[in-house]
Amino acid sequence: MKIVAVLYPGGEAAKTTPELLGCAENALGLREMVEAAGHELVSITDAGAGLDAHVPTADVIIATPFWPAYVMRDRIEKAPNLKLLLTAGVGSDHFDLAAAADHNVTVAEVTGSNVVSVAEHVVMMTLALVRNYIPSYQQVVDGLWDIGTVAARSHDLEDKTVGIFGMGRIGQRVAARLKPFDVTVYYHDQRRMTTTEEQVLGCRYLPLEKMLPICDVLSINAPLTPATQEMFNREMFAKMKRGVNVVNTARGRIVHAESLVEALKSGQLAGYAGDVWYPQPAPADHPWRSMPNHAMTPHVSGTTLEAQKRYADGVGDCLERFFKGQALDPDFLIVDGGKVVSPSYRSAYEK
Ligand code: NAD
Repeated sequence: MKIVAVLYPGGEAAKTTPELLGCAENALGLREMVEAAGHELVSITDAGAGLDAHVPTADVIIATPFWPAYVMRDRIEKAPNLKLLLTAGVGSDHFDLAAAADHNVTVAEVTGSNVVSVAEHVVMMTLALVRNYIPSYQQVVDGLWDIGTVAARSHDLEDKTVGIFGMGRIGQRVAARLKPFDVTVYYHDQRRMTTTEEQVLGCRYLPLEKMLPICDVLSINAPLTPATQEMFNREMFAKMKRGVNVVNTARGRIVHAESLVEALKSGQLAGYAGDVWYPQPAPADHPWRSMPNHAMTPHVSGTTLEAQKRYADGVGDCLERFFKGQALDPDFLIVDGGKVVSPSYRSAYEK
């Protein structure tokens, strides 16, 4: 069988840091296992024509959310051998789930593999925005010492209200990590937790309409689906408390690009820290690179060296089972048997 992995270029770091498993050069550390099992592993960085050349003969395509290969309906229809689409990480929106279901292609991801890494990043970004860290760092680099400008936009996180949209594995870990900051945490999710779970995490459920106007910080942690695509648009930002800081480590397309730039320029949003973009890699002239008061990162939160080990191991486990004709870990399945089966995605795809 032919396994095609589309992975980010590791460059010099691929040679000096063998733990950088997520890059094309190190191919998730899977080459030996795949070849010993008698299969072919092609590891490339080109998610365009380079991938197209392999699509007609690929049995499995692996992609990471950080450097996504967008395998949409047209590609799936040009891949007669395709049986499995695997995300090395969490979040499989770069695959067309409806088309995969229609063509009986299984989609799986490594559920839970990088949720701690992302939750830590959310806490970092929250503090970076609330404390106005990026402009103060920039002053140091620029040889300045203008305390007034920085301090005029700097707050304590203590006593603020934080809203979490999407209270799954990452959302819950964000809530747990924010507890010692003495904040009030509300959440909104399509599934409500039990009272005991809420008490343990120190948070309470609110309908979105009630949560948005009272939050000083909003963290977006839901998957990108037809229900969440561009959900945070002009109208939604207008419902938020003026001066809210928004952190989005989920997916760039959950936020409407132009509405975000407008909301930052008008001051409706005090700041925005996103780790995720559309498309990725973001072009050099992407408007989010130059909008005011941002603390963006280039989709790195879920690919720490520890996370890479976990998602590489998870992909290895999926492939080993697949080669032996065994069922994949049910927690990893997004599309199976011609249906979207993941509880986090399912309702958005029900016809
Ligand atoms: P999860 O499946 O454990 O949790 C997602 C939560 O969102 C679930 O509780 C689900 O019920 C909820 N949800 C789904 N649709 C909703 C809707 N329309 N309204 C309200 N709630 C909704 O997933 P997770 O591990 O917490 O990851 C969440 C997302 O974060 C992923 O789907 C992925 O897009 C993103 N992610 C990003 C990175 C990164 O590196 N930046 C890494 C991992 C995951």
